[in-house]
Amino acid sequence: MKQVNGQKLLEALGSGVDAIRGRITPDAPMDRVTWFRAGGLAELMFQPHDTDDLVAFLKLVPKEVPIMVVGVGSNLLVRDGGIPGIVIRLSAKGFGDLELVGENRIKAGAICPDKNISAMALDHGIGGFYFYYGIPGSIGGALRMNAGANGGETSERVVEVHAVDRKGNKHVLSNADMGYAYRHSDAAKDLIFTHAIFEGYAEDKNKIRTDMDAVRQHRETVQPIREKTGGSTFKNPQGHSAWKLIDEAGCRGLMIGNAQMSPLHCNFMINTGQATGYELEYLGETVRQRVMEHSGVKLEWEIKRVGKFMPGYEIREFLGRAMA
Ligand SMILES: Cc1cc2nc3c(=O)[nH]c(=O)nc-3n(C[C@H](O)[C@H](O)[C@H](O)COP(=O)(O)OP(=O)(O)OC[C@H]3O[C@@H](n4cnc5c(N)ncnc54)[C@H](O)[C@@H]3O)c2cc1C
Repeated sequence: MKQVNGQKLLEALGSGVDAIRGRITPDAPMDRVTWFRAGGLAELMFQPHDTDDLVAFLKLVPKEVPIMVVGVGSNLLVRDGGIPGIVIRLSAKGFGDLELVGENRIKAGAICPDKNISAMALDHGIGGFYFYYGIPGSIGGALRMNAGANGGETSERVVEVHAVDRKGNKHVLSNADMGYAYRHSDAAKDLIFTHAIFEGYAEDKNKIRTDMDAVRQHRETVQPIREKTGGSTFKNPQGHSAWKLIDEAGCRGLMIGNAQMSPLHCNFMINTGQATGYELEYLGETVRQRVMEHSGVKLEWEIKRVGKFMPGYEIREFLGRAMA
């Protein structure tokens, strides 16, 4: 079932859209954006030309219209009923720059790929960015998710974050303002990060290169990185590894339709063909339910699930079978 409201929403924004320079697409397919290659339509997608264009556009949006921002979709599960309202997708031209801005400091646009910051840091002998080499997301996603791996995480490197709120007001947040915790930021949900300044430390280039190679090699051996996936499905609960709990509950390789818990890394969910958002989320809730029954631990989703269920295909937490 397709959404057909995008054009109506576009008309509701009024004639102010004529001055907008970015691209506006009604009923935009989200399966082309997400790594899972699944999910419904965004009612209206906006790709701003630059920050001023983003601000101008946001000022046109009525307050009751939901707005969400996506990066490169490597941590997103979009439901089949699509995303109501506006999805902002930053353009590489306006938000993809990387620049050295002082000793060991790098300014990165929010849609810049994480691995580009590692490469720049290596070129300039700046340590502390090796871990981004293996994370396939954008800087905006990393800022929101506190992305991290191989002993490093975003919160350790952030100096300040520049953002725009849904009314189009600009903000600058300090590291403390970002309220970082494990794979989480407390920054207001309506903020669209536009760029950020990161700081590393002077380090020998050979050491940086060795650390980056280790990250790549580790990933290629233990993760299904060439599959349609969203990375780690669940956060590691305090004192546990999510993958171990999943394995012990017998869910390695578990399949529902075309969605599977990867046999290689069983905390990675993969789309083995034409999986729907429903199949992927149903698989995830099945795993949560089985892990809870087996070990009593409630797994928490790391992947962001967004959008609406298709009518008749609603999924309840733990499949509605949660105990106390
Ligand atoms: C193969 C694979 C391996 C992975 N390995 C790791 C890993 O080792 N460590 C790790 O932490 N993650 C990992 N991930 C998950 C993912 O890459 C990270 O969470 C990444 O930071 C998400 O970035 P993104 O651009 O894809 O964000 P998206 O998936 O597009 O969005 C994720 C969240 O960030 C928000 N967001 C995105 N851009 C912005 C912005 N500009 N302003 C405000 N909010 C924004 C979105 O609204 C959403 O809530 C992996 C994923 C895959 C597919």
